[in-house]
Amino acid sequence: MDVIFFGPPGAGKGTQAKILQQRFGLRQVSTGDLLREHRRREDEIGRRAQAYLDRGLLVPDDVIIDIVRAEIDRGDDLLFDGFPRTRAQAEALTGLLQERGKGLPLLVVFNLDKEEVFRRLMGRWTNPRTGRVYHDIYDPPPPNKIDVDGTPLVRRADDQPETIQTRYDVYRNEAEELLDYYRRSLGDNIVEVDARSPVDVVSGKIAGKFSAPPRSLRQ
Ligand code: ADP
Ligand code: AMP
Repeated sequence: MDVIFFGPPGAGKGTQAKILQQRFGLRQVSTGDLLREHRRREDEIGRRAQAYLDRGLLVPDDVIIDIVRAEIDRGDDLLFDGFPRTRAQAEALTGLLQERGKGLPLLVVFNLDKEEVFRRLMGRWTNPRTGRVYHDIYDPPPPNKIDVDGTPLVRRADDQPETIQTRYDVYRNEAEELLDYYRRSLGDNIVEVDARSPVDVVSGKIAGKFSAPPRSLRQ
């Protein structure tokens, strides 16, 4: 079964993706990580995405959908982390999954208040090679901010107050329309989690939903 993680920035989607992809044999598709990789390579997609990434705005849907289509065509059951973020992206994903005869995805909705979003992101340290994240208070990084694989940890350029505010506002603007769409098309294949809970509690809640058999897709 494919899984979609939806929630505000800093809600713990990447953290849970790293845990659950191993446990359930899913491949994580983080559109944010893929865009940052394109930016690092300074290729065509990277150049198109740059200004949006810097400002915390959504990269245009057509760019995102092209990236996701390529990932779906590589096969596997996928764990979408940070995609879809708009109703148009959600509709495009439904079409792509249907064309490939896939069942209904499971939508995991992470709920987190704005104050905690800021606390999470202002304390986040990222390993740019593996995507592993730490937090100054909740999950302190190793000494000297060097990860166990020898990679120096970094603070993401967009984890600054002004950009966090923009990213949070963008999330709020899109959330209702996207959730309305999925409430109608996914039925029971939705699980809401209180993202303030400890990491293992959140993982347990999501894992509990995995036994439900996928149903055929409805529009
Ligand atoms: P997202 O991928 O949703 O943006 P991350 O997984 O990167 O969020 O988590 C944001 C920050 O919050 C990281 O610093 C991470 O260590 C921390 N974090 C993640 N989940 C929890 C949790 N359940 N409790 C406390 N801190 C968490
Ligand atoms: P994330 O790593 O999920 O926090 O995303 C970082 C940034 O990448 C966002 O602020 C957007 O600029 C861009 N981005 C990631 N995923 C998407 C998406 N599905 N649609 C549009 N923009 C995205």
